[in-house]
Parts: sequence; structure tokens; C-alpha cells
Amino acid sequence: MGQPSGPVIARPLVARACGCLREFQHYAVDRYRAQRLAKFQKTRCEVCVAKLHEAQRQAAAAIPKKGEAFRQLPPGTQMTITRRANGTWTGSLTAEGTTVHADGEGPHGVTLALARAWLAATGKIPAVAPAAPPAPAG
Ligand SMILES: [Zn+2]
Repeated sequence: MGQPSGPVIARPLVARACGCLREFQHYAVDRYRAQRLAKFQKTRCEVCVAKLHEAQRQAAAAIPKKGEAFRQLPPGTQMTITRRANGTWTGSLTAEGTTVHADGEGPHGVTLALARAWLAATGKIPAVAPAAPPAPAG
């Protein structure tokens, strides 16, 4: 639908969502130029998209797997897991004077979230930023 056609008649520099200026091509025939421009401005440039993906990949690689996370907890670590009235679980973990809290659908998820939260809180692993929404295709 609505593929632009004809020669490129202008190439203004437009700031994209990441702040980078990129060439936006005006085609001679383009019924959807306004929509294309809006999308162009709402999305990041290809360089920043690549950087974002690389950062997400590194963050994912830095999160310890289940067994590793538990092995990194110090001796004396204490966890309390409580089932709530609505069926979800909540818990806390205390080790070396640092207490963290986590909630989850099940006790296994809560224990792992607690282990990761404690490791992040104590600087043993990088803090995990909430996952960014996937960049729109195109
Ligand atoms: Zn950019």
C-alpha cells in the first residue's frame, strides 16, 4: 500500500526519536508522506537502534542464570516467601544486611527474582533496566 514513487524531490534533515538528524526523502508521488514523516520522527535512527539492541543483548547476558544467581548468594542468606490471598507470591531476601523484595506468579519465580534483585542491589551484577519496547519495524 501507498509505496512512494517518482524521483526524490527533497531531502530535509529531520530529528528522529533519538535526537539524531537524518535525511527524510520527499518523493514526487507520496500519498502518505505525513504518516511516513510522523513514523520517521517517532523512531530511532538505524545507528541508535543497533546500539540499543547491543545494550539489551549485553544486559541479558549479564543476568545470571538460575543456578548461578543462587550460587552467588552468601552463606546465611534468608528468604521468606508468602502466598497472598489472590494466589500470587511475595517474598523478601536478606543477606549481609541488605534486604530486597519481589513479587511473582509462583514461588520459583519469586526466589529467582529475589536472588537477582539482591545481586543487583549489592552491585554484584548490573542493575537490570526494564526491557525497552521493541523498535517498530521499518
Ligand atoms: Zn540516533
